[in-house]
Amino acid sequence: MNICVLGTGYVGLVTGVVLANQGHYVICVDQNADKVKSLSAGKPCIYEPGLEPLMNKALKSHTIRFTQDLAHGVKSSDIIFICVGTPQNEDGSVDMTQYQEVLTDVIHALNEPKIIVNKSTVPVGTAKWAQEYIKQIRPGMPCEVVSNPEFLQEGRALQNTLHPDRIIIGAKSLNAIMAMTKVYDKLEAPIEVCSVESAELIKYASNSFLATKISFVNWLAQMSEYYGADVTEVTKGMGSDHRIGHEFLNAGIGYGGSCFPKDVSAAIHMSDSAFIDCGILKSVRDINRYMPKLYMSLIEEELCGLQGRNITVWGLSFKPGTDDTRDSQAIKFINLLLERDANVTAYDPVATLETGLIKQSKNIYDSADGADAICLLTEWPEFMNTDTSDIFEQMRNPVFLDARNVMDSEKLKQQGWTYLSLGRLH
Ligand code: NAD
Repeated sequence: MNICVLGTGYVGLVTGVVLANQGHYVICVDQNADKVKSLSAGKPCIYEPGLEPLMNKALKSHTIRFTQDLAHGVKSSDIIFICVGTPQNEDGSVDMTQYQEVLTDVIHALNEPKIIVNKSTVPVGTAKWAQEYIKQIRPGMPCEVVSNPEFLQEGRALQNTLHPDRIIIGAKSLNAIMAMTKVYDKLEAPIEVCSVESAELIKYASNSFLATKISFVNWLAQMSEYYGADVTEVTKGMGSDHRIGHEFLNAGIGYGGSCFPKDVSAAIHMSDSAFIDCGILKSVRDINRYMPKLYMSLIEEELCGLQGRNITVWGLSFKPGTDDTRDSQAIKFINLLLERDANVTAYDPVATLETGLIKQSKNIYDSADGADAICLLTEWPEFMNTDTSDIFEQMRNPVFLDARNVMDSEKLKQQGWTYLSLGRLH
């Protein structure tokens, strides 16, 4: 099939590359000229394990192309995937500027009826609105707008896209359902067909539920700390119940990234707009906002203040396996340290920040030079595999804050570290 993908960020690029390796001809459009140039030269602008070789394979076999020419992409394709960003407005609602702009351009470029697929995460009702919008601008161009939400996780995006748990298709006509089934016919994944509104809500429901699990265990960590339980034992015991499961039960500094925080806020906004009480998600959001402050207070108390202290943070990205720092809890933690006049040095295997306010180390060992504390904020495997006895020698004050509960605490204590965590006995 001839497919046009609009937006070559984490979702658009991975989607385009996977489809181009499955027998489809894909034109990826982005308005960013530098991105298009870099992608055409075989260099992805994002870090995602396995993506570069697969993208180059498609480039070599001419099944993928990158361009800024949206009209050409639309005219040459049967199906158009919209994968542009839908960030958050100040009031928690979804900023639909990119989506509306790109949809307007698509409508003007249409040369015949096409299927337009919303892969961007958009509020419930968007597909219906888009359908009406098309009718207004091009009454003689009956296109169907389908909802096909994306569930990939950065850092595992290729695996998720090649082996999804399910593919959700919200569509009205048999024609659209059949076309979408053909797009994905090489993937061995169950396809769940539903109404467009259900598909749109499934995306918000899934992310809100996962965020709820995380905030729930972070509440449990505080309960464990106060009542003398160990949160890792509690979550292990809970997770063994097959109705609960072990996934997403790791207590720590909380969730971040470009999806969970904004999708939870959008769900709250949609709920408020409908006058439906949303206390549950407001608590989820509040607990998550509180976690960086709580972890910061542990280190502040241990060091009797942070002014002039040398604090090393390990991890900037919102999770391991990605260079994405959007809405990362690590950034929030660093800002709290800076507000207290600490000197911050950061090390991340992949991610960097564009700021002169902190020092960024290229090497994990250098990052600890003369530090008063190390704060592990992202659970990159490199941190767990580093010889902490070597790091110990470089510290001015051997304090280790484990904000992801991933280190061997007994080993650290034996090496002489003061080990800090929340809700752990050992
Ligand atoms: P992103 O910001 O990384 O990428 C968006 C891309 O769209 C950018 O490259 C931008 O230049 C391009 N763009 C914007 N306007 C354009 C236009 N008019 N014409 C052409 N290109 C244009 O975003 P992302 O992280 O890939 O997310 C895209 C959507 O998918 C969002 O709605 C997001 O919520 C959703 N989503 C993201 C993830 C994730 O893990 N990142 C997972 C599931 C769903």
